[in-house]
Amino acid sequence: MRPTMVAGNWKMNGLSADAVHLTQAILSADLEQMRPEVVLFPPYTLLHAVTQEAKGTALRWGGQNLFWEPNGAYTGEISGAMLRDMGCRYVLVGHSERRQIFAETDELVARKVKAALSSGLIPVVCVGESEAERAQGATEQVLQRQVEAILPLLNLESNQPNLIIAYEPIWAIGTGQSASPEEAQTVHAFIRKLVAGHSSQLAKRLILLYGGSVKGNNAAALFEQEDIDGALVGGASLSAGEFIQICRAAE
Ligand code: 13P
Repeated sequence: MRPTMVAGNWKMNGLSADAVHLTQAILSADLEQMRPEVVLFPPYTLLHAVTQEAKGTALRWGGQNLFWEPNGAYTGEISGAMLRDMGCRYVLVGHSERRQIFAETDELVARKVKAALSSGLIPVVCVGESEAERAQGATEQVLQRQVEAILPLLNLESNQPNLIIAYEPIWAIGTGQSASPEEAQTVHAFIRKLVAGHSSQLAKRLILLYGGSVKGNNAAALFEQEDIDGALVGGASLSAGEFIQICRAAE
């Protein structure tokens, strides 16, 4: 059985006091006893607050982005080493908001994945098609392109995958319109098959998260699907009660 994970992407939300309250409330749910690994992705400015609350607990945290160089004259950027220094285990790479708003290409995403891996971080690579691409029947084509851009970075020597993939259809993000469990399962199975083309061992062990309007009331049906190993939660991760409900649905 693969491990499960529920991750909260806070995006550009929250101030220090919110981070402390939210982290404390999530920790009150006795995460040690829960099956999924629970991970928070706060904005950089809140990493310290989350670290202070979460160190020594089962809760993990990560950055929402990184730059590919370890240091240097890159005003406004954050490196993998800096995230490691904040105790991060994970980093999001290629979120659709970054691909769309900040024009991150597949090539750039691959560079970031490489940088994350060489810093000792586990990249959670986000992939997903837009509404228009879906309407054109191009979902598989888009995913194939996005997934194949990072497959050369999979460590084929190990039988433990060195990255996580999150399928986040853009049309489902922040819209309240989640993919149906069956739709999401079909795409997850497709992604796993693409990875199996490189290594069937790694494909079996790869954690595949679904993201896009996951809520307390639809999480369980998504998690029942064979190839869905957890969720990357946006809006609902800003409410401790709802986020904990999603974590419990992954039991
Ligand atoms: P929502 O859960 O708000 O749809 O956001 C999903 C997401 O983008 C997580 O990275």
